[in-house]
Amino acid sequence: MWALKIACIGAGYVGGPTMAMIAYKCPDIEVTVVDINEARISAWKSDILPIYEPGLDHIVKAARDRGNLQFSSDVTKHVAAADIIFVSVNTPTKVQGVGAGKAADLTYWEKAARMIATVSTTSKIVVEKSTVLRRNCRDPSIHFEILSNPEFLAEGTAIADLESPDRVLIGGKETVSGRRADVQQVGHAIGTDSRIGHKFLNASVGFGGSCFQKDILNLVYICETVGLQQVADYWHSVVHINNYQKQRFVGRIIEAMFNTISGKIVTVLGFAFKKDTGDTRETPAIDVCKGLLNDNAQLHIHDPKVSEAQIRQDLATSPFQWDHPGTVANCKAAERDSIRVFDNAVDACKDSHAIVVLTEWKEFAKYDYTAIWDTMVKPAFIFDGRNVLDHDHLRSLGFIVYALGKPLDPFIQRIYS
Ligand code: NAD
Repeated sequence: MWALKIACIGAGYVGGPTMAMIAYKCPDIEVTVVDINEARISAWKSDILPIYEPGLDHIVKAARDRGNLQFSSDVTKHVAAADIIFVSVNTPTKVQGVGAGKAADLTYWEKAARMIATVSTTSKIVVEKSTVLRRNCRDPSIHFEILSNPEFLAEGTAIADLESPDRVLIGGKETVSGRRADVQQVGHAIGTDSRIGHKFLNASVGFGGSCFQKDILNLVYICETVGLQQVADYWHSVVHINNYQKQRFVGRIIEAMFNTISGKIVTVLGFAFKKDTGDTRETPAIDVCKGLLNDNAQLHIHDPKVSEAQIRQDLATSPFQWDHPGTVANCKAAERDSIRVFDNAVDACKDSHAIVVLTEWKEFAKYDYTAIWDTMVKPAFIFDGRNVLDHDHLRSLGFIVYALGKPLDPFIQRIYS
C-alpha cells in the first residue's frame, strides 16, 4: 500500500516535528516514530502533544487522521519493517568517565545502531553516520547505506524551519574530493543560516537550550583530543562567559534590592529557554532561580507553557543530569517551600518586591502593569533579562527598571555609586 516506509528512532523535539512534516507533505509514505519512552508515545497519540511548537498540532493531527503518521513503542517491529530509518535520539554531555563534562554521550546512539543491525532482515538507508552498524550485522548480504543529515531546525520555529529551511545538508560516503575541507565551502554553508545575524544578536541573561552548550562542549573536547588546546580554550570561554552572565544578573538583582533579597518575593516571568516552546533544557532560568533561592528569596514562577512539575524537577536536578534517565531529582525541603508556581502572571506578581523576566514571551509586554504595580510591595522593581518590556512606560508608572545593556535607572545608579 505504501510507496515507502520510514521509521524514526526518537520521538523528541527533532524526531516528532520532522517526521510529522514528512508525513504531512508525503501522503504515500508511511511514517512511524518510535521511542522507548511509553509516556511520550502515548502523548503523541493524544490530544495534548508532549511538546509545544506553533503550528505543530495541526500538522500532527492532519497526518495522524490521514493514517500515514503513527507513533509506537514497539521499536524493533517498525525498525525491521522500514526502508529508511532516521536516528534522532538524545546525545547529552557525558557526566562521568573520559571527557566527562564535555564529550557527547553516545550511549543512546550506539544502542539504537546495534538494535538496527540486530533486527534488520532487509537492506536499509540509515540517516546518520555510524560504523557500529556494519560491524554488528550478522547477515553480510544486508546493506546499510548510511547518510548524515544534520538538523538545523530551531525550537519555537520548528514548523516554519521545516517548511522553508535555509539549507539542507545531506552527506554520504566519504570520497577523495569530499575529504578536502575547503574552508570557503564551510563558510558558505554556515553563512546561509539566517540565524547568524540580527535575529540572534540580542542582549539576554544567557543562552540556553539542549544543543548549544552541549555542542560547544563537544567541540572543546574534540579540539583537545586533536591537540588544538588554544582553540578548545577559546570555545570553552564561551560557556564560562554564559555562566558568568547568569551569575552577574543575579548579583545585579541582589545589589539593586539593597543587597538583600532574603524573605522577599521575587516573581519570575518565563522559565522556558526561549519563547514559543515549553522546553526548559539548559534554560538560564534554572541558574537564575537557583541563585535567587540561594540568597533566600521566595520565588513566584509563571511560564505560559511550562508545567509546575517540570519547573520543580528542573530546580531539583544537578547540571548535566537532566538528560540522563534515572536521575533522582533532589530538592531541599526549604527550597521546595520557597517556590510557588502560578498559571496566571497577575496572581504571581501579587505581593512581590520584584519581577524578573527570563523568557521573551510576547504576552509579557501586554500585561496591565498599572494594575500589577498596585499589588506589589514598594519600591517595585523590574529586571528585564530579555529587553521585551516598555521600560519608559514602566518607569512612568513608578517601577524601578533594570534593562540589560541599557542605561541604568537613576535609582539603581545611586545605589551603585
Ligand atoms: P530528545 O531528548 O527530545 O528526544 C530523544 C528521544 O530519543 C527521547 O524521547 C528518548 O527516549 C529516545 N531514545 C533514546 N534512545 C532510544 C532508543 N534506543 N530507542 C528508541 N528511542 C530512544 O532529543 P532531541 O532534542 O529531539 O534531539 C535529538 C538529536 O537531535 C540530538 O542529537 C540533538 O543534538 C539533535 N538536535 C536537536 C535540536 C533541537 O532543537 N532540539 C536541533 C538540532 C539537532
